[in-house]
Amino acid sequence: MTRRDLLKGLTFVAASSALPLSLQATQTVPKVQKQTDRSKKTRVIVCGGGFGGLTTARYLKESNPDLEVLLIEQNRAFVSCPYSNVWLGGIDNLSLEDLSFDYLSASIKYGYTVIHEVISGIDRTAQTVTTNNKSYHYDYLVLSPGIDYDYNKLFPDAHTAKAVYTHFPPAMKPGSEHLRLKKAVEHFQGGNFIISVPSGTYRCPPAPYERACMVAYYFKTHGIKGKVLLLDPREKPATKAKGFLESFNTLYKEYIEYIPTAEIKGIDVEKKVLNVETFDTKSLSYRPQKIAFSYANIIPPMKPAKLIDIAGLELNESGWVKLNAPGFQSVTDDKIYVLGDAGGHPFPKSGHMANSCGHVVAKELGARTLGKPFNVAAHLPGNICYSMVNGSPKEGIWVSHSVTYSKVDGLKATSEAMTTRDTQTGNAIASWFHGVTSDML
Ligand SMILES: Cc1cc2nc3c(=O)[nH]c(=O)nc-3n(C[C@H](O)[C@H](O)[C@H](O)COP(=O)(O)OP(=O)(O)OC[C@H]3O[C@@H](n4cnc5c(N)ncnc54)[C@H](O)[C@@H]3O)c2cc1C
Repeated sequence: MTRRDLLKGLTFVAASSALPLSLQATQTVPKVQKQTDRSKKTRVIVCGGGFGGLTTARYLKESNPDLEVLLIEQNRAFVSCPYSNVWLGGIDNLSLEDLSFDYLSASIKYGYTVIHEVISGIDRTAQTVTTNNKSYHYDYLVLSPGIDYDYNKLFPDAHTAKAVYTHFPPAMKPGSEHLRLKKAVEHFQGGNFIISVPSGTYRCPPAPYERACMVAYYFKTHGIKGKVLLLDPREKPATKAKGFLESFNTLYKEYIEYIPTAEIKGIDVEKKVLNVETFDTKSLSYRPQKIAFSYANIIPPMKPAKLIDIAGLELNESGWVKLNAPGFQSVTDDKIYVLGDAGGHPFPKSGHMANSCGHVVAKELGARTLGKPFNVAAHLPGNICYSMVNGSPKEGIWVSHSVTYSKVDGLKATSEAMTTRDTQTGNAIASWFHGVTSDML
């Protein structure tokens, strides 16, 4: 099977899986008791084949080759969110195929088993994971299921939420949503193109700002008379603020309007009008306004993927999985490790960080299954996150994070940023993408 063959089946699979679980039709639960698949070896089940899960599965087999590792992932192809904004901007003639990989080659290369099924149950007492096909017994469980959209916080009416998702998907999960956004950009006829930044902690803080630059870049280079209205509930961009604001004001003066302190209060999906409140610093009050748009990329707040709820794991005060710092074991169950965007450590939610944490979890759990000690505090993860802001020449900015741990202060992530755009960073983005995907796949 070629990558192109895989992509043919992708749209359908991704379309159903990308829909927030709360919006999916209720699945009928078969009444027949599912047979439980057991192993003579110590078995680790990794749930979710994204950045965190793929890395953990690969490196677990390296840290303890005697383990049986099962990776359960609902999608049949891995499609990357990182680099997708560059694809959206039409830079380097990237295609969706360049962002896509098959799972089977990685599983053969690294010696684990990949199963494409949807996980619907986790029984922590019986230590089983149940899918649409059968139940699998585990000795240890690793969860890296990513995020779900929390539409309830933006549009409490489920009917409106569903309409907004259908017409203006967030494209913060790969596959179908990204294809729809790409089509919307390419066929844009002019007018306002809204991108809304979510409140709270969300997947990839720079992504909406980078996306604004890439959509504006596409408009600018294709003669499209459109304007990106970037609505942000914050006073300034959540990350790399100086570099993004400078890019908006110099590269895209006529193409991007950054609107801070903007809170979405409602939407008319049919008429394409958004009700927004912005804070007026003169009168110190909120000013309501109606914004008409031709297309909108509405990104709602986020929460851990449904699988975390299914596993019944405790969340921290910010709504992400509470973990035993500095390691990755859930405080609810020490046989369960959680990493990636669903995790509650104070790390930015990025693919690089999920990959870095996957290395640590693999070492930590590998040592545990071999009965060896392992000091997580001496193997803390790190992060670097690049954003493309211009296409000709390719220019980017970056932010990096290093993590420290002490018993008194717990885990702390400190950042350093390079906010003056340059071509060296613009060119580093492709190398980073090829590096991280080679490491996982
Ligand atoms: C537009 C965009 C740009 C980004 N750019 C960057 C970047 O430049 N650099 C960077 O470092 N990060 C970037 N990110 C962030 C990065 O994509 C995420 O942080 C990363 O994917 C998180 O990894 P994860 O393993 O937690 O989740 P994911 O990679 O989302 O993997 C979760 C997997 O679990 C599977 N799953 C969930 N529930 C089930 C179930 N019930 N049954 C079976 N399978 C299930 C899902 O199908 C999915 O494949 C970007 C994100 C976006 C949206």
